[in-house]
Amino acid sequence: MNIAFIGLGNMGRPMATNLANAGYHLRCYDSFEGARAAAAAAGLPVVGSAREAALGADVLVTMLPDGASAREVWEALVDGLAPSAVAIDCSTIDLDSARTLHRLAAARGLRPVDAPVSGGVGGATNGTLTFMCGGEEEALDAAGPILAAMGQKIVRCGPAGSGQAAKICNNMVLGISMIGVCEAFALADHMGLSRQAMFDVVSTSSGSCWSINTYCPVPGIGPRTPADNDYNPGFAASLMLKDLRLAQEAAQATGARTPLGGHAAKIYEDFVREGHGGKDFSGIILSLDGGPAPGGG
Ligand code: NAD
Repeated sequence: MNIAFIGLGNMGRPMATNLANAGYHLRCYDSFEGARAAAAAAGLPVVGSAREAALGADVLVTMLPDGASAREVWEALVDGLAPSAVAIDCSTIDLDSARTLHRLAAARGLRPVDAPVSGGVGGATNGTLTFMCGGEEEALDAAGPILAAMGQKIVRCGPAGSGQAAKICNNMVLGISMIGVCEAFALADHMGLSRQAMFDVVSTSSGSCWSINTYCPVPGIGPRTPADNDYNPGFAASLMLKDLRLAQEAAQATGARTPLGGHAAKIYEDFVREGHGGKDFSGIILSLDGGPAPGGG
């Protein structure tokens, strides 16, 4: 079975590596030279173009920044895939784009799946991602073993686009919870409470959540996170802003009330406008009282 894997960034590279380690035959491509070089250095079979990767492939996996890039890549590639190939988009994108990908692929007799992920770079590296999937049952059956090589949980969310709908909800929670955790660290500083004590209590109490337990936004505390690496992503603040905007677009389109989601989008908008879009999204703490003291205290 040949898998074309397009998009070898922070997430795509370790995901493709797990597919290769599971014994699948891959052809990988990224439009950015630096990403191709890093993937090749990690031992992945990188080819000269997306078209070359996709030609005759039984499976397409894409891990791209947004709906525009996913549509561009699928429009260019679906014709070259093997008949009834499984086409899986793991990027986080808007619902309209996700449904467009489904239509494009289904019109050519392919089996499309939207399968955005949760778990971050750590989950991608360790093969412990959660996939939230949308599509026809038969396509989801076919995608199952491929997703299982990259993750530990596969949730069938419903028809085309349902995986993206679930992902948009998840990341609205994540953006809000990360801001909440960062505000709590800033408040603890002001009250003279040590960050270690704040972590020890909140991470084992009713305030515990992924944003503090697994992805603590201050250095030197809890598991190693982007905070320990000068807020290099990880998950870039610009991507979090994209996801919070997707949530707001969906809320407007459907009439859902999401006041905290709207406020979180505004906070990330300011952070990105100030030039921090390339920092990890946990770096939002830098916009609160100047951020963490060196060493985490
Ligand atoms: P990234 O920016 O590190 O990687 C995206 C890659 O796609 C880049 O290397 C880029 O060069 C490549 N690319 C862009 N347009 C392309 C094109 N037309 N053809 C080929 N390659 C192209 O982003 P990432 O952090 O790996 O995230 C990828 C997706 O996964 C995003 O949709 C993001 O929202 C989602 N996501 C990320 C995380 C995370 O923790 N980083 C977690 C869950 C979901």
